[in-house]
Amino acid sequence: MRDRWLVSLLLTSVALTAGCATDAGDEVDDADWLDGKADGSTAVNVKATNLDVDLAAKTAVATIELERNGNVALEAGGLTVTDVTDERGHRQYRVTAGKLRVSNVRGPLVVSYGFTGHDMANGLLPGGSTVVWPYFCGNLFPCHSQPADGTTFTLALTGVPAGKTAVYPETIDAEAPPYMIAWAVGAYTKASLGTTTAGTKIGVHWLPGGETAARAGTKNLTKVVDWYEKTLGPYSFGTEMAAVSVVWGEGLYGGMEHHPYFHVAKDAMNDEVTHAHEAAHGWFGDGVRLKCWEDFVLSEGTVSYLSARALSKVSPALETKIWADYKDELAAAVAEGGAPAWPRGCNQIDIITDKLFTNLPYMEGAFFYKDVADKVGADVLDGVIGRFYKKYKNKPASMQDMVDAIKRDTGFDPKAIVDARLRKQF
Ligand SMILES: [Zn+2]
Repeated sequence: MRDRWLVSLLLTSVALTAGCATDAGDEVDDADWLDGKADGSTAVNVKATNLDVDLAAKTAVATIELERNGNVALEAGGLTVTDVTDERGHRQYRVTAGKLRVSNVRGPLVVSYGFTGHDMANGLLPGGSTVVWPYFCGNLFPCHSQPADGTTFTLALTGVPAGKTAVYPETIDAEAPPYMIAWAVGAYTKASLGTTTAGTKIGVHWLPGGETAARAGTKNLTKVVDWYEKTLGPYSFGTEMAAVSVVWGEGLYGGMEHHPYFHVAKDAMNDEVTHAHEAAHGWFGDGVRLKCWEDFVLSEGTVSYLSARALSKVSPALETKIWADYKDELAAAVAEGGAPAWPRGCNQIDIITDKLFTNLPYMEGAFFYKDVADKVGADVLDGVIGRFYKKYKNKPASMQDMVDAIKRDTGFDPKAIVDARLRKQF
């Protein structure tokens, strides 16, 4: 009874305020906030992102649920915003310096907008799929691109061209990094690959002519995911996981961690390591999010190690070749240079322009764990990584947290390996 009474009171106050806002105009609007003069660090974080997308019209309605009422600054630089409402009704807004600013938001923020295609792996791509990693979500939906600010998602797509299907998750109930959401539209054929012991259904979607490569690349995928679930803990992004072949442009290769339907470039569909790598992001990168961009190695280094470890366990003949290939990749990455695999600081680096996005975090990260495994035992290290996952599942964590966990759980201080592999500038 008390709950219902409270709701009716709230509704009354909303109705009154909405009337005032419309009449008085700017009573609820903070001009300094709208103009971008106020301190942006007080902006409210995102709790849930609900997207209703019309692919034919390239328009969408985003309903953003916030962690609390207050001033909002969301990345929206690539969007044409046409209307913004909250519980009070239509709201004043500005898009300044790539950010959609609305003051004193009450209840969910509903943003109507148009979007456009992009061909630099930064939004809706010509091939029909989307990529917004690392910080391009503002080309597709209003967002906070910081992976530490996790969000749940719902997604609905209309306007899919005849003869094509759209592969996307309708709901993501656990908090995920903003770059995790994606869709892929194409002439897909789907096959089921099996079910893990924990009940997760594994599948693969290929494009015309792609079946042979897709089956080769995913032949151990169910066993690999089963190993992740048994070794690390439960998968948090639903009861299904699938690999989806996508057509990216020139110069893009590998895959992208769009769980639960992760994307693999058409040319990499026959590569088992790529599938195992993207699947592992369900636990690290997506499952455990990055506290700071500088912690990129906690995502890529950890999954590069885990994918090698899982494939070696389920198909031992692969182990020697995977680590030999990693060694070659490491040598090439060192020769090319870039930021240290684990730079100091927190969100002071631009992951792309400051060259943290090289193969160094992937490969130095993988060899960091391999060196630690040589000291403490690979099974013992599996236990450390599994406990770490369970502790930080659907939360942000740092590479320092992992180093501390290794030291605490095993008694072995990996500092010398950290210095030689992760902090070293090449
Ligand atoms: Zn990766």
